[in-house]
Amino acid sequence: MADLADYAAAFSLSLDPAQLAQFRRYSELLREWNQRINLTAIDAPAEIEIRHFLDSLTVATATGDLSDRRLIDVGTGAGFPGLALKILYPAMALTLVDSVAKKTRFLEAVAAELGLSDVTILAERAETVGRQPAHREQYDWAVARAVAALPVLVEYLLPLCRAGGSALAQKGESAPREVSEARTAIGLLGGGEPILHPVKLPGRDETHYLVVIPKVATTPAAYPRSPGRPAKKPLGR
Ligand code: SAM
Repeated sequence: MADLADYAAAFSLSLDPAQLAQFRRYSELLREWNQRINLTAIDAPAEIEIRHFLDSLTVATATGDLSDRRLIDVGTGAGFPGLALKILYPAMALTLVDSVAKKTRFLEAVAAELGLSDVTILAERAETVGRQPAHREQYDWAVARAVAALPVLVEYLLPLCRAGGSALAQKGESAPREVSEARTAIGLLGGGEPILHPVKLPGRDETHYLVVIPKVATTPAAYPRSPGRPAKKPLGR
């Protein structure tokens, strides 16, 4: 994956040969498992490299170095962005959450095969994890890509952030609109003023956004509501 190193360098992120070998193996495992369980619609190696790996790594342009930080990735699917960030920053403490057990079995296989340590994998719903003392308000960063509209997503992410930590959502062109729709929810959950970081991937016209929401106050005990409730009745909508 020589190209991935070049693409990452354009974002001031550096990958050594061992990390590139880990990404190569991750890509092979993704394509192997994808024949048996539905992990991704993106199957060509060059597309996996840009639309999964590089897109995940761009999160680091907003977070900075995540070594020794605690990060939780909610609705991680096949590990994006969390597992890709773990390869970039091996000293990061990572928790991956997805409600689908078939997907978390894939994540366990990748973490074992790549020799990654300090990875916790939970086959649970975000709403359940957000109420568990081991996870509630414990993370420097709670991140997600392609999981839910922002008014719903903030109810998954903000309860997991410690005071002074941040939620980060990877969003497409709809980010500015979603931010305005999520303002009431953000306020109720203890979030502060969102900051939008635009990102452009090589060869793509559309702008992506990293939406960073600082955690400025404790989340009230009422949130997150029970599983399914945030999506059914988004806060403030
Ligand atoms: N983040 C990955 C990516 O960008 O490739 C996966 C995106 S996939 C479209 C959404 C994932 O979120 C699915 O794997 C789904 O099982 C998970 N998900 C959706 N709602 C969830 C919830 N409330 N708690 C945990 N996982 C959830």
